[in-house]
Amino acid sequence: MSELDREVRPKHFIQQIIEQDLQDQKHTSIRTRFPPEPNGYLHIGHAKSICLNFGLAATYHGECHLRFDDTNPEKEDQSFVSSIQEDVQWLGFQWDGSVRYASNYFEQLHQYAVDLIEKGLAYVCFLNAEETRAYRGSLTETGRSSPYRDTAVADNLALFEQMRQGQFSEGHCVLRAKIDMASPFMCMRDPVLYRIRFAEHHQTKDTWCIYPMYDFTHCISDAIEQITHSLCSLEFQDNRRLYDWILQNISVPATPHQYEFSRLNLEYTLMSKRKLSELVDNQWVDGWDDPRMPTIAGLRRRGYTPAAVRDFCQRIGVTKQENCVQMNVLEACIRDDLNVNSPRAMAVLDPVKVVIENFTGEPESLSAPCHPDTPAMGQRSLPFAKTLWIDRADFKEEANKKYKRLVLGKEVRLRNAYVIQATRVDKDAEGHITCIYAQYDPATLGCAPTDGRKVKGVIHWVSAEHAQPAEFRVYDRLFKVSQPDANTLAESLNPDSLIVKQGYAEPSLVNAAVGKAYQFEREGYFCLDKQGNSDQLIFNRTVALRESWTD
Ligand code: ATP
Ligand code: MG
Repeated sequence: MSELDREVRPKHFIQQIIEQDLQDQKHTSIRTRFPPEPNGYLHIGHAKSICLNFGLAATYHGECHLRFDDTNPEKEDQSFVSSIQEDVQWLGFQWDGSVRYASNYFEQLHQYAVDLIEKGLAYVCFLNAEETRAYRGSLTETGRSSPYRDTAVADNLALFEQMRQGQFSEGHCVLRAKIDMASPFMCMRDPVLYRIRFAEHHQTKDTWCIYPMYDFTHCISDAIEQITHSLCSLEFQDNRRLYDWILQNISVPATPHQYEFSRLNLEYTLMSKRKLSELVDNQWVDGWDDPRMPTIAGLRRRGYTPAAVRDFCQRIGVTKQENCVQMNVLEACIRDDLNVNSPRAMAVLDPVKVVIENFTGEPESLSAPCHPDTPAMGQRSLPFAKTLWIDRADFKEEANKKYKRLVLGKEVRLRNAYVIQATRVDKDAEGHITCIYAQYDPATLGCAPTDGRKVKGVIHWVSAEHAQPAEFRVYDRLFKVSQPDANTLAESLNPDSLIVKQGYAEPSLVNAAVGKAYQFEREGYFCLDKQGNSDQLIFNRTVALRESWTD
């Protein structure tokens, strides 16, 4: 963990509860869990939950489990199981014991369902989906009892066994809890506990054709694992009643207490695996790890570091207030990290040629620090030669004093090299500048001109014959609107969320490792994309040097 993670902060409400529980000896040690459903890649909202659960276990010397709540075989996949483990570990956390699966408990869950039937607290119901909905009522109207509600226990046991044996087709019947059709909480109106699915499960294969519902599974799995503090987001607040009802009516080793906190919402993006999968399935993005995606895999490919994501989760805090966090908050975290930790380099994204007419002879090998404040990061060698690339935006034929770059007839410093003066330009038929001619002052390497001339501007450059051609992918917000409507995703996408530029990078970057971050001076923070290699450098812009998310 970095120093940032350890920074002392006021304790949030869950920490206060845990400290009280430990002090009262309600628990002698704590156990939390992160319980994803493996139906997609994790997003930064999950990072909040991961940092909370694993962080609390670390702070209070407890344990944290990783458990897949895998009750929907059709939507789940082993590839999601793998990516989730990779993401948790990448964030810097390790679960206690082996990876757990709710499906490990299918046998026990089935027995608990049988126990409820035996107590007259569950029944097999043959209403179809539409009828079930109509019988359930609404927020303003109480529900009606299913005609199957009073089936005898022995019959229910036999029917549930027939369900398990595959004697009914999908959707033909379900097992429901017998609670209260008049409850103001919809989840208490005889919720479904088991349904029939002839689907192969990624863990249990074809052992089962009935699958427990999420609510039934989740609370019992927490109880089996003796979780002391079950933490989840606010939308599960009402479900707590159902969880408590289930656990009170069966015999489990513990009755975990659930505490709810507000979900993370982030502007200009979405926090829902289901919606994010729509972007992937429609190929509106380049897969789950597209650098524009708010997934952990996307952030990683974009160049975010685990420390920056953890820092972000610290900064946003844990409360019960619904909120929508600005993208600037996330970007500030990665900037703070990379400003200190990333080596500097030079790259030209929109190149125009400069010929130094008074430079003769062999190219020179200059040297530049990898970081201005950290000499321990070492030096890199920087070839300087007659023909250079500079950025098109760094030259003007005429400009006022505010423009501190290269102007025709004026001087500018080339970063880590000499002062040059622009003398004339070539243009094509359309009037675009194709080449800038310049003179350099050989006496200005690492020092100001001796005659007292003031040169204020500094621009970056690369040597044309030594530079590596490179592609630069510059990202912007994925959606045009700050809170995209889940029903009109396609229309809300930002058409300029990816701008590709072809330019040049200094030769030392030929050895860049995938994912390693650099600050390209005056351009931003970048890292090599996984699609790039030493023959074809491709860099993702992680973040601009300064805040750009202003409306
Ligand atoms: P999604 O809609 O993205 O699938 P989910 O809540 O259905 O989200 P799960 O895999 O069930 O996804 O989530 C695992 C854990 O992560 C849960 O405890 C959930 O409360 C938490 N979580 C999910 N999204 C967020 C979020 N945006 N902020 C904080 N915690 C979250
Ligand atoms: Mg879910």
